[in-house]
Amino acid sequence: MFFSLLEMLLLAGLAGTTGWFLGGALGAFLGAFFALFIYSSTLQWKLDRLEQWLSAPGLRQDPPWQGVWREIAERVQRLLRQQERLAAVHQKQLQDFLQAIQASPNGVILLDEQARIEWCNDTAAAHLGLDAKRDHLQHIVHLVRDPVFARYFAQDNHASEAVIAGRASSALNLQKLSVQLHAYGEGRSLLLTRDITAVSQADAMRRDFVANVSHEIRTPLTVLSGFVETLQSIPLGADETQHYLQLMSAQSDRMQSLVVDLLMLSQLEGSQLPSTQEKVSLAALMLQVTTEGQAFSEWMANKGEGPVHQLEFASVPDLYLLGARSELLSAVSNLVSNAIRYTPLGERIQIHWSSTPEGLMFIVKDSGPGIAAEHLPRLAERFYRVDRSRSRETGGTGLGLAITKHVMQRHGGELRIESVVGQGSTFKLVFPQSRVVVDLG
Ligand code: ADP
Repeated sequence: MFFSLLEMLLLAGLAGTTGWFLGGALGAFLGAFFALFIYSSTLQWKLDRLEQWLSAPGLRQDPPWQGVWREIAERVQRLLRQQERLAAVHQKQLQDFLQAIQASPNGVILLDEQARIEWCNDTAAAHLGLDAKRDHLQHIVHLVRDPVFARYFAQDNHASEAVIAGRASSALNLQKLSVQLHAYGEGRSLLLTRDITAVSQADAMRRDFVANVSHEIRTPLTVLSGFVETLQSIPLGADETQHYLQLMSAQSDRMQSLVVDLLMLSQLEGSQLPSTQEKVSLAALMLQVTTEGQAFSEWMANKGEGPVHQLEFASVPDLYLLGARSELLSAVSNLVSNAIRYTPLGERIQIHWSSTPEGLMFIVKDSGPGIAAEHLPRLAERFYRVDRSRSRETGGTGLGLAITKHVMQRHGGELRIESVVGQGSTFKLVFPQSRVVVDLG
């Protein structure tokens, strides 16, 4: 710059001196003036070119000057490149940050000072039925048309969350969302959404379960305490006393079965998956099931004063199952005892094992009343009963099929039920080939 100034003064001095010789003082003034005029015009022209070069897309090209102009151009170029690099780093950081929020299982919405949507992740969009592009800068309350949400939004204190219906709700399935506002920055806020459908369903199931268990225990307890009172207050003969004691024993058996099944369920839920080390012989398993089944049918026949069932146990293949013996016994005998309990006395019940391409099957086919199709999907739910009184009369707890299904899941297999009302039912346990071994010697 110093040299440019010097250059300009020299030029003005030279032109002034030449003017002095040619025309005296006026000549010197005019000479210096024209020299300065030409110099500043050239300077202006160069500045215009520099400006054009800077704003042209071809900034990356070599500056077409030498000297100080080239230096200026190169410095500007370097600064711009530095800025671009910084901007790229910030852009990358922002993208990473947004990707991290995008990956969150919860919904995240950034709202500006006027509660307009600045950005939202896909989860929030799905939860609330938003479109990140279309709804950009739309007021959130205009889009989430839920009165609970509007009330929550309007209140001053957002320390706790609100529960609203999610976009995926249908007539059959309600999607429950927890939403909470968090203030940040200057007047901005973060709206977080969380799908709590599964949690609240689990909560409801737990409440139902506790209510069911209490109900199942309260009924026999009430009966028992009634009998105790009777025995205490009314003098009864030996026969009558015996009769009452038998009724009391039946009620305590009922409670005991319930406790046994509940313990079994909790053990199934809390324990590790059955190992593949324990080998359970089908022959030994079926020996126990056959003996118990026959005894149970006789007990039913005695009670109902009718003939025993025609229990047909087919020959058992020489195979072993890899799994927990007590669980397998429980799954298999639940099906056999159910068939006996729900099939009229004297009727036929066929029990057999079959090797199929799907795996090894245990099949119990009865000639009982059958089950209507609408009950089939819910049959293995805890305490779900089609014939409540028959279940109670025959000592049912409402947990047998739930236990069986659970055991099958733990062994990688499944419980299948086929039934037509009036034509009996077929219950199948399907074990995967990986749990079946032929002869272990
Ligand atoms: P429960 O102890 O009541 O028998 P389960 O879980 O074993 O409970 O069975 C659930 C319900 O399924 C029973 O209450 C009964 O209504 C129905 N059920 C089970 N097995 C049969 C069957 N073989 N025939 C008809 N209904 C059955």
